[in-house]
Amino acid sequence: MDRKRIKDVLEKHLERSSPSTSRGVVSKERERLAAGKLPASLGKAEKVSDGEEFETDSEDEDSDISGSESEGTSWISWFCTLRGNEFFCEIDDDYIQDDFNLCGLSMQVPYYDYALDLILDIESSDDTYTEERKEFIELSAEILYGLIHARYILTSKGLAAMLEKFKNRDFGGCPRVYCCGQPCLPAGQSDVPRSSTVKIYCPKCEELNYPISMYQGSIDGSYFGTTFPHLFLMTYPHLKPQKPPQQYTPRVFGFKHHKPS
Ligand SMILES: [Zn+2]
Repeated sequence: MDRKRIKDVLEKHLERSSPSTSRGVVSKERERLAAGKLPASLGKAEKVSDGEEFETDSEDEDSDISGSESEGTSWISWFCTLRGNEFFCEIDDDYIQDDFNLCGLSMQVPYYDYALDLILDIESSDDTYTEERKEFIELSAEILYGLIHARYILTSKGLAAMLEKFKNRDFGGCPRVYCCGQPCLPAGQSDVPRSSTVKIYCPKCEELNYPISMYQGSIDGSYFGTTFPHLFLMTYPHLKPQKPPQQYTPRVFGFKHHKPS
């Protein structure tokens, strides 16, 4: 199966459906999707490993398939446990089934209806898809899930789901020394898809940082959006930490820098 060709065609679809794109990010993300994710029929058992974020995909990932794992696991649960997808919470089926919540998304995602069915584990009556088409639908489902996710995490249920993940430190900690490993929140720099990748926002120093994992770092920032971390901290104000008590001061032989006048 020619993945590159599939990727190229999907890219054309997406370029057409969204005028504002950053090609570098688009192709990087799509590459990740195409490289890291297999169609549902093949890849449901891809291993999730926290300690191996920088490891490249092994050639024999198909050998991880245990057979029984694909049975009984919903697409959403499977998707959220993929390596690099730790930032995503599981969206309630009820939320996805309400058309009102998905308003406008059909214009942004190719194979929208098929992708939606895949997310909701609705078996298609048409079983004559080619492998290539299955891959398209799978990639579309991942994009659609991301776009729904951005909306869901602003609802009370979504915020509560993200709270659990925050407590679990699923979003990583701030790398700044004086933040002492403060747990962070995912944040987008834009709400427009394919503008930039996801960052982590530290509530202590109020800075954005890149996620440590390159898999997490290649996820589209619009799947989390610009509002989420701030609405989260307004909803749970007790989680907003004090600013760091100290700020790092650069010194040369013990003396502070003298600002040039
Ligand atoms: Zn910080």
